[in-house]
Amino acid sequence: MHELPVTKSIYQIVLKHAKRGNVKRVMSVNLEIGTLSDLQDERVQRYFDHLSRGSIVEGAKLKINRVPAVFRCNRCQQSFEVDSLLENDLSCTQCHSRAVTLVSGREYHMQLKEVRRITYASNSDTGPFTDFTLEIDARLVSGTEHTDYGITFRRQCRGNFYFFTVSPDGTFTVGKQVKNEWYPLETGKSAFIKGDNSTNSLKVICDGPEAQIFVNENCIRTIADDSFNGGRVGMMVGVREQPYGHAAFDSLEVSR
Ligand SMILES: [Zn+2]
Repeated sequence: MHELPVTKSIYQIVLKHAKRGNVKRVMSVNLEIGTLSDLQDERVQRYFDHLSRGSIVEGAKLKINRVPAVFRCNRCQQSFEVDSLLENDLSCTQCHSRAVTLVSGREYHMQLKEVRRITYASNSDTGPFTDFTLEIDARLVSGTEHTDYGITFRRQCRGNFYFFTVSPDGTFTVGKQVKNEWYPLETGKSAFIKGDNSTNSLKVICDGPEAQIFVNENCIRTIADDSFNGGRVGMMVGVREQPYGHAAFDSLEVSR
């Protein structure tokens, strides 16, 4: 159970950096863990979910990357990488000496890469609508593969709405903003999301507390949440790492 203290320190570091950077919500944390560390990914995530409940880090996904261990030869000083102690022969790649010292590979590194800051939200508000079907064609004009673009719905006022965004890297997020705080409800990857600057048809069917989420006519999630039962619809562009993003929207259609 040594994952718990390690996860606790990861959580505390993430929280400290998020607060310092005035981040509203942390979506994911990139972690590099040495291959020789026996930390179990699932346990780390489970402890993290537990520790972060109720904080701005709640719901953040840990993206764990295993990095090879580095050894150095005691005889000729050659450094070499080892992926696995079971599969690799532990001897110097240059002089084949077996007198080697572990340099790195048991530790972990952390990059808080994907913090979400919506720096630009374009809302051509229409509505209000209670139960409806909203469809729109959306396309990224410029940004990176991590730029999120999509729709807002059941928007009450600034800082209070649901949103559904996709990005060229194939990820989607359905969530809400309540009193300017971001709450992810569903996030994941979908093969139905077209990458690069392709047009994606986005659709939301709202019926009572349920919303069905579609990408290119494929239902990818159904969410249930009763924070807002009606409101306006609009569009948004969010960015994670870079300072700008630009998306184009066409054929907005709201029906019952
Ligand atoms: Zn050597």
